[in-house]
Amino acid sequence: MNILVINAGSSSLKYQLIDMTTETARAKGNVERIGLEGSVLKHQYNGGDKVEIQEDVQDHLAAFKLVIRAITDPEYGVISDISEISAIGHRMVNGGERFIDPVLLTDEIIETMKAEVIEFAPLHNPGAIMGMEACRKLMPDTPMVVVVDTEFFKTLPDYAYMYGLPYDVYEQYKIRRYGAHGTSHKYVSLRAAEIMGKAPKDLKLITCHLGNGSSISAVKYGKAIDTSMGFTPLEGLIMGTRSGDLDPAIVTYLMEKKSMSPAEMNDYLNKESGILGVSGVSSDLRDVEDAANAGNKRAQLAINMLCYRAKKYIGSYMAALDGVDAIIFTAGIGENNATVRKCICDGLDNMGIKLDETKNKVRGKEAFINADDSRTKIIVVPTNEELMIARETKAIVGA
Ligand code: AMP
Repeated sequence: MNILVINAGSSSLKYQLIDMTTETARAKGNVERIGLEGSVLKHQYNGGDKVEIQEDVQDHLAAFKLVIRAITDPEYGVISDISEISAIGHRMVNGGERFIDPVLLTDEIIETMKAEVIEFAPLHNPGAIMGMEACRKLMPDTPMVVVVDTEFFKTLPDYAYMYGLPYDVYEQYKIRRYGAHGTSHKYVSLRAAEIMGKAPKDLKLITCHLGNGSSISAVKYGKAIDTSMGFTPLEGLIMGTRSGDLDPAIVTYLMEKKSMSPAEMNDYLNKESGILGVSGVSSDLRDVEDAANAGNKRAQLAINMLCYRAKKYIGSYMAALDGVDAIIFTAGIGENNATVRKCICDGLDNMGIKLDETKNKVRGKEAFINADDSRTKIIVVPTNEELMIARETKAIVGA
């Protein structure tokens, strides 16, 4: 059984064709710059071979046609006909309180999404819906499932997802914590349990998804009970270009001082702040580390801030969980950056968290990196959101 996973954004369409017998990707890639000059499809097949197709791609339908052409191409395709695709799984970032569980896609569902959920992820949801429409148009008889990233956080208790605002804004505007990266947190928490040889129901875990966007979750007995991202993915850790937690009074203060509109302020906090804003160097931690190593103090400050806040979240989630069995690191930084992992875990010995510096040298591979006498396991688990979406799709279509 092959499942095609689609992750569509406003100007990109990522895909992965997964063989569910082996749970491996047969092909994957991305159509970049949809509707812009210089659009290109980057396609990877047979586990590593690559091809790039430069072609004018006006919209998501054209992008999806190009994807189908690539995966069925006689030379670099991996199937001979679209009938070999059993189902399609679509990623959605946030479906508000309206769409939470994976749902079988119909035209009616698409219309409801257009009417009710765009505002919960205005940068992501319109593109995702365009991707769904394109697939429905080209493959109307193939079952499709929408998997919402926030599903994993539906188990948060109300006292964790509510903000200290008048209750009516929750009722009227559904302002509450939704979290993000849920598919990743779910995948790594399940996988960590598997490699620990334990059932999720017996474990208390803290999952750290540290990438360009970063979030930390507390997972108790298989269920998320808290997460650092909030109403939008702006809350929580200091990220590539996002500020993370702030005193909310700073927002109105700065809007006045700098005469910024709400939209400008939103861009300022989402695109100009975080590691980029503090360091003045880059949003990519590799560049920031290079600068810090060369003596740039603001670059070092940005790294210290990232680690310190992650450490504080871990401490607070240990309190929320009443202890922790394992801390899991994933995503670009979590999987690859030994310095950041060490900096986060340093000084937590008294809390039973002790890193082994030699084991910590691992990059991009599953590994235990805790010292033998550490009460808490520390594990690197590369994330696989596409596989998680494919599994959820299979479960719904199979049912
Ligand atoms: P992501 O959003 O998960 O792609 O992660 C992006 C972040 O991870 C950037 O800050 C990168 O510096 C970092 N990153 C990604 N790949 C690597 C790598 N191979 N080595 C070190 N850092 C990496």
